[in-house]
Amino acid sequence: KDKHKYSGIVEDCCCEYEMVDHLNEDVLHPLLQDLVKTPFFRYFKVKLWCDCPFWPDDGMCRLRDCSVCECPENEFPETFKRPSVLSADDLMCQEGKPEAAVDRTLDRNAFTGWPETDNPWTSDDETDNAEMTYVNLLLNPERYTGYTGPSARRIWDAVYSENCPKYPSEDLCQEEKILYKLISGLHSSISVHIAADYLLDEASSLWGPNLKLLNDRVLQYPDRVRNLYFTFLFVLRAVTKAADYLEHAEYNTGNSNEDLKAQSLMRQLLYDPKLQAACPVPFDEAKLWKGQSGPELKLKIQKQFRNISALMDCVGCEKCRLWGKLQVLGLGTALKILFSVNGQEHPNHHLQLQRNEVIALMNLLNRLSESVKFVHEMAAEMPAGGQTA
Ligand code: FAD
Repeated sequence: KDKHKYSGIVEDCCCEYEMVDHLNEDVLHPLLQDLVKTPFFRYFKVKLWCDCPFWPDDGMCRLRDCSVCECPENEFPETFKRPSVLSADDLMCQEGKPEAAVDRTLDRNAFTGWPETDNPWTSDDETDNAEMTYVNLLLNPERYTGYTGPSARRIWDAVYSENCPKYPSEDLCQEEKILYKLISGLHSSISVHIAADYLLDEASSLWGPNLKLLNDRVLQYPDRVRNLYFTFLFVLRAVTKAADYLEHAEYNTGNSNEDLKAQSLMRQLLYDPKLQAACPVPFDEAKLWKGQSGPELKLKIQKQFRNISALMDCVGCEKCRLWGKLQVLGLGTALKILFSVNGQEHPNHHLQLQRNEVIALMNLLNRLSESVKFVHEMAAEMPAGGQTA
């Protein structure tokens, strides 16, 4: 079978489709799958309430497969907990499931040792601890939730038409195209996860891949597949650019074996010889924001991206909001690494990442890696027609 329906260089990037698939399969995907299971990377700090700044709650918050199971008490890393004894008020159950208990026993010092610097690309306020909770991402896989219809459509419409200029258009400059492609690539990845883990039969609770949906939403649109690969390489470039920082960061959860494992997996990923040889610079950010209007354009796009980030509070399904917020924060972190540090604007700035930004960045890279793998494998299985990029 033809395993490579996409050929040539990924547009605006520096590596070939075929190479990306090989690297992903041999190196990135296996390492990332292990990395996101470590305690440091599986707990995401997030404010999950619906407080949409753009329109009133549309009543979509209580969909069945949408609820998020937050951290069960016994699973939470010891160092994250407050020393006090748990009271019944600290635990709140959703849907009556024991594993869905919400642990609100946040230790304000849990994220100490990490900077709390603001990210100019996102709207989330990380320091607002009172309203934040930790979610175990492994208990809440991104998959089909049943969230659809006007509520979901309104978000995507707002993301594309209000914030992200229409594409393709001759008027768009390079930087605006890139913002569009990042959003479209993320959208493809979300659709791929819905298709990869779909509720096939409600009566018997049977979950599995829905290849028709994958084809209808992603594979039959070559640009959506291209944008997925582009977004993957863009985020990979950010991760490798921040290698020095990520290598020396403290992955401390109090479980030294697991923390050492996280550090070792991170090192293997950052300095993998195959990656260095085959795709040393997955995306060349130095060519952006050139010319007189560069700084102004950057501020404009930064504002657009902040709006997209704020729109995630309008997603009317808790689990979709969780993954939407995480992945947009991950993209915002990639943008911060590539464009807000050591650029012309702040030549003396050193990179500072918040703990949550690192968690979002690596989980986003893992999601994109899963999507690229699934698309690559399924595109090879599907009959030809409409799927070549
Ligand atoms: P949609 O995916 O809603 O797409 C809307 C329109 O956008 C399409 O008609 C098309 O014109 C355009 N479009 C679609 N894909 C692309 C692309 N890749 N690039 C450019 N344009 C595109 N549902 C779940 O079941 N699980 C989830 O985890 C989940 N997470 C979500 C997270 C967010 C942030 C949002 C906004 C929605 C999420 N949803 C989730 C809902 C899901 O994305 C769809 O909106 C829903 O399944 C309805 O799909 P649809 O066929 O109407 O098309």
